Amino acid sequence: MRLRALRSFVFILTLSSLFFDVSVSISFPPALGQQIARQFPLWFRFIKSSKLFSWFWNKLKSFLITFKDLKLGDTFQGLSNVKQYLDLLGYLNSTSHSNFTDNFTLDLQSAIITFQKNFNLNVTGKLDRNTTKVISEPRCGVPDIVNGTTTMNSGVSNTTAFNPWWKEGKRELTYAFDPENNVSDGVRFLFRDAFERWSNVTALKFTETALLNGSDVKIAFVVFDGRGGAVGVADTDYSEHVGSVYLDSEEEWVVRGENEDGDVDLESVVMHMVGHVLGLGHSSVEEAVMYPIVLEEKIDFALDDLRRIHQIYGVNSK
Ligand SMILES: [Zn+2]
Repeated sequence: MRLRALRSFVFILTLSSLFFDVSVSISFPPALGQQIARQFPLWFRFIKSSKLFSWFWNKLKSFLITFKDLKLGDTFQGLSNVKQYLDLLGYLNSTSHSNFTDNFTLDLQSAIITFQKNFNLNVTGKLDRNTTKVISEPRCGVPDIVNGTTTMNSGVSNTTAFNPWWKEGKRELTYAFDPENNVSDGVRFLFRDAFERWSNVTALKFTETALLNGSDVKIAFVVFDGRGGAVGVADTDYSEHVGSVYLDSEEEWVVRGENEDGDVDLESVVMHMVGHVLGLGHSSVEEAVMYPIVLEEKIDFALDDLRRIHQIYGVNSK
C-alpha cells in the first residue's frame, strides 16, 4: 500500500517534470527524437546484426501481408526475409547469416516449429496467419536462442548458469546515459524506478552517474530500424565489465501514459532490457517482463520473472 502511494507520488513528480521538459506530450516529441537520433557508437558489439535489422525490416513487413499460408516445399518471393528474421533471433543455424533462398526448407520448418512453441502458438510448422502476426510485432532485438540455448518454451538446450560481467564481488553498479541524448528528468525518473525494482529483487544497488566512461551500464537512444521492428537491445561485455542498453530513438515511446496503436511503453522496455543486463533470457509467459514483445505497460514482475531471478540471485536476496 505504501509502495503504491509512493509510486503515485513519483508518477505526479514525473508528470510535472515532463510538463516542463517536453511540454504536455507523453511520448518523445519528434523534435527530441530527431535530436537524439544518431548512429550506434563504435563500442556496440551488435552493430552488424542491427544494421541487418534495419535494411530488411521494411521488406519483411510488406512481405508478411502478401500471402496466406506457406508450408514445406513452397517457394514464395520474399520468404528469405522470414529466414533472415529467424536467423537474427537465433532460430536458424546459418553460418553465413545471408544469402537465404525463397524456398520453404526443412530447416525453416524446424525454426518455425521452435518459434511457435516459444510463442505459445499452434505448432503447425507452417508460416500461418497467427505466426506472421507475432513476427509483425515490434519486439526486443535480443535473440530468443543464444548459442543454441533458450530459456523459452521450446526447451532447446538448457539454461546456462549466469556469471556476472561486473567485477567480482561488486554489489553497487552505476549507470549513465549517453550525454548526446540529453534525456529529460522525466525519463531519468523512469529509469531510476526501473533500476530500483530490479534492485529490490537482486540486492544490487544502482546509481546514476553523469560519466559515461567508467559507468557499469551504458544507456543510449540510437537509430535502429524506424518504427516497429526491434525496439531495443541489451548487451554485456565480460572483458570490459560493461553492460549496454540501446533503445530505438525512432519508436513512439510512451512515458507513463496511454498507449495508442504502435506506441511502445518506455518503462516496460527498460525493465526488460535491465533484465537482460542482469542475466535473464526471454520468457514464453506473456505476462512476464522478459517476454520478447513489450508494447503496453508491464513493469511489475510476473511469477515467472521472479522464479528466474531467484535462480540467479537467490530467494532471500533482499
Ligand atoms: Zn529481450
